[in-house]
Parts: sequence; C-alpha cells; structure tokens
Amino acid sequence: MARNGRRRSSATARQEAAAGKPLRAVLFGPGVVAGPAAAHAAGGLPPAGRTPDAGDALEARPPRPLPGALRLLRQLRAAGVGTALFSAGRAAAVLATGGLSGLFDAVLQDSDRARGGLRGEPDPDLLIETASALGVAPGEAAVVEASATGVAAAVAGGFGQIVGVDRRGEGEHLRAAGATLVVGDPAELRLTPARSLAVQTLAAVPSAWEHLEAIRAALRGRRLLVCLDYDGTLTPIVADHARALLGEAMRAAVERLARRCAVAIVSGRDLALLRRLVPVEGVVFAGSHGFEIAAADGSFAPIERGVEFLPELDAAEQALRAALAGIAGHSVERKRFSIAVHYRQVARADEPALHAAVAAALRAHPRLRRGLGKKVVELQPDLPWDKGEAVLWIAERLGFAAADAATVYLGDDITDEHAFRVLAGRGLSVVVRSADARPTAADYAVADTAEVQRFLELLGAIAAAQGGPGGAAP
Ligand SMILES: [Mg+2]
Repeated sequence: MARNGRRRSSATARQEAAAGKPLRAVLFGPGVVAGPAAAHAAGGLPPAGRTPDAGDALEARPPRPLPGALRLLRQLRAAGVGTALFSAGRAAAVLATGGLSGLFDAVLQDSDRARGGLRGEPDPDLLIETASALGVAPGEAAVVEASATGVAAAVAGGFGQIVGVDRRGEGEHLRAAGATLVVGDPAELRLTPARSLAVQTLAAVPSAWEHLEAIRAALRGRRLLVCLDYDGTLTPIVADHARALLGEAMRAAVERLARRCAVAIVSGRDLALLRRLVPVEGVVFAGSHGFEIAAADGSFAPIERGVEFLPELDAAEQALRAALAGIAGHSVERKRFSIAVHYRQVARADEPALHAAVAAALRAHPRLRRGLGKKVVELQPDLPWDKGEAVLWIAERLGFAAADAATVYLGDDITDEHAFRVLAGRGLSVVVRSADARPTAADYAVADTAEVQRFLELLGAIAAAQGGPGGAAP
C-alpha cells in the first residue's frame, strides 16, 4: 500500500505540474473504444412467450465501436488534439470493428510487451512510445483506459491526465490505481475550452435551444426514429407515480409527431400499462426498461427478454411485499420484467430499512440486479439488456440503423443514460434537466416537459420538411 501511495503522490505532483497545460494528445486503450456487440441484433432474440435457447446466447460476439468514444474522438480531432490507440495485442481487432480507423493519428501495438496476457493491457513504455509517435511529452497527454493495469501504466509513465472508464463497477480499482477521473462511459467526457478532459454533468449540458442549427444539421436529410421516455419526459414527476397521466396537449403532440416519423415510447413502466397511458396509434412501445417491446399496430411480433426470470421475479416480489409491510408510504409496482419499489413518499428515517429489504431480496435472488431511478429502486433480470439495447433493437427492426436514418432519444433519468450512451456520436440525445448532479452522456438538454413538447414540435417540423409522412417508411 505504501508503494502505491508514494506512486500516487508522485503522479499527483506530476499532474499538478501539468495542470493548466492544455492537452495536446489523448491516448485510448482498446477497451474504451470497442466492446462486446450486438446484444440488440434483431435476429438474436426469442419471440414473446418463448424461453430463449442456446442459440440466443449473447457471448462470443465480435466487438463493436463504442459510440461514446466515437463522439469524443471526433471532438478531439476537431479541436486539433492528437489521438492515438495503444494496445498490447488487440489493436488490429479493435480497428477492424469499423468506423474507428480514420479517427486515430497513431496506432501502437506491441504484443511482446503484453503484461495482461489475453486482456491486452499495456506497460508504461508502450504508452510513452505512443505519445512520442504523436510528438508530445507524456505530461502533455491524457490516457483514457478501462483497466487498472493500464491506469497504473499511465501513472508510471507520467501522463498529464489519467481517466478510468468503469465498465464493470470497478471504479474503486481504477481510482486506487491512480485514475484522476473515473467515468462510466467515454460519452460522459468532454474537452473543456481550456483543453482538459472533464466529466459532463447534467448542469453543464448545452441547451438544445442554443444549438438548433447544429441539431438541424445533424438530422438533415435523415429519416427519423424518435424514442421517448415517459415519466419525467412526457409527464412531470409527481408524488404518486400512479397519478402520472399524459396530458392531452402532450398526447396530441406525440400523435402529430407519429404521423410524420417513427416514434417509440421507451419506459420503465409495464408494457400493458404503458399502452394504456399513451393512447397513440402507430407507435412502438418498449416497457419494463426495454425488456418487452411491441408495435401498437402489431406490425412486428412482440419480443421479450428474461422470460426465464419470471418465477424469480414472482418470488422476490412476494418477499419484498412482506418485508416492506411495516414501512409507510412505499409502493411496490410489479411490471412483467421488473419490480419497482417507489419511496418518494417514505419518511427519510425509513429509507435505510427499505434499501436493506431490497438488498436482502437481491441476496436471496442473485440472478436479479438492482436498477436505480428517481426515488425508485428496481429489481430486474441481470441480463446485458437495457434501454440502450432496446433502442438499438427497435432502430434495427424498423429499418433505422442505416446511415440515412437518425435515432433521437429524449429522457430524464439514470436508465435513459444507457440510450444516451449508445447514441453518442451516431444519433441525438436530449436530457430533461433536473437538480441531479449526475454525469450524463446526453448531447443537449431541455428544461422541463413543456420544453419537451416544444422540441417534439420542432422534430415534427424537421421530419415534415424532409419527406413528410413517408419519411418514416423503412
Ligand atoms: Mg423518466
């Protein structure tokens, strides 16, 4: 530990010396720019009501470029900051994923120096050589890396800024190794005007209204798929979630938009309930955070993820209802593929007991995972599936995955960040701002649901101008 501590303090000293110096280059590790692919592949899911078989396995997928890295790479290049990919053995595989090869000024690979064996983690010399290939000193460069070994190599190499990307809940390991900044996804990183990397928080997201020209330019000439969260996006957050009903003006706005382009409602709500809450023809509904997807008009067969988890969800629901019986103000909302425990009306003193009951249910059912939202904690099947994968699945299924189409996503909560991440650098994401201080991957922000409605009118006008009702056809 002492050695780690010394290493960290000398690294801190070097970083302090480098502080204020604008970055001249950013070096990326392979795990930051490419990852497992195609959980959403339209052919890879069983139809609703059928238990998945071995053919549905999500393993052994080839890597895909991670969109958050695409956006950051483009931003860096536009600002004249050098970019490089380093890898002890995997660079070729990463570049072969497509969409990435033109975005690096240098690619360094050295399989002889691999310390991490198959994981392809680098040593300090490889990083220093990579910086030197770009003509910059390590102190003038940042390293963005997903492994603790890579972060430690960057510390030893004396790099000016070291960013850990925490893909597997290992943020503490990355910090302990010396990362000065840890993010969940490179989509949360921005280059500041002073040319350092910073986390984009909700308060710092640029307002959509101040960037209308950029938004129009991003969508120009492309068929639109607009995905909308429900609570907090189409309806204001209210004390009792059961009373979050869609206002007529918003309903009419969604209906008008759905006549001009493809629209999907992507919500944590149960699918059957969501269809009643949003009575609009011609839209796609994704309920239970995307675990169940159906078209309002039945134009494609509904799909479900996690059918094999239903008995476990039933048992956990029973146990939770019993364990929470003594806590006033809570409400347990069972959705087909999720159990939501709402606590907006629970006394703060009772919150620890509520979270303890949820933790106990998760220990008893380790195949379920915890999902967090605004004053709600959920138990869901622990599958590589979320709103982001659901949005990619819908885009692919409806024919909007091609370059002549764009997916737009509006949402307000933590679960929407999954969609913001997968659309970074490819589609357009708009967050409904709140007082939360969380990091966000969204491109732009609007203030509230009233501004969401205005933004839907804008999207409708853009869709109408470039093809009208036919614009939604695949
Ligand atoms: Mg929401």
